Amino acid sequence: MPNAQWEFVVFESDELNAFALPGGKVGVYTGLLNLAESNDELAAVMGHEIAHVSSRHSGERYSSQIIAAGLSATADEVMKAKKVEDQKRQIAMAVFGGVAQGPMLKFSRDHETEADIIGVRFAAGAGYDPRAAITFWQRMQKANEGRAEPWILLSTYPSNETRIRQLQEIAPPSMSRSMRPHEIAI
Ligand SMILES: [Zn+2]
Repeated sequence: MPNAQWEFVVFESDELNAFALPGGKVGVYTGLLNLAESNDELAAVMGHEIAHVSSRHSGERYSSQIIAAGLSATADEVMKAKKVEDQKRQIAMAVFGGVAQGPMLKFSRDHETEADIIGVRFAAGAGYDPRAAITFWQRMQKANEGRAEPWILLSTYPSNETRIRQLQEIAPPSMSRSMRPHEIAI
């Protein structure tokens, strides 16, 4: 993606969530970061988010490139604001949430499955253990059992059980750590 301007930002929030915006902006909340028990598990999440961007899942939903550019610009502003004092940061988070929830909530079940499949390949191609996607989602399932708040990003997926089952089918064939990214890109 020659035109992508990748930026990965950690937001301080207990939410178990991560998100992707058109153009390569990827955010991850500390809640999710702390839940991941290995770099392999974090790579599973990042692979999933990167796959949403590289597959242009958000972009497909906007007829105008201008809207996509606007989303990225908004993300930029939020990311620049991330070190300002708490009150401003919270405002920024609220703004960002409002922006992010639109495209996030509309990821279809097909998009989620596609992001899982491609994301696992990205993680494997980068040298991470793709089976970590399975253990991560099992951890997410457990962590969400006692939580009232819905997760924004992943709530559109039919169920954790389905996702874990699919990943169990996907991950083993992606196991080769010798794969290089150009061989796995689709
Ligand atoms: Zn997703």
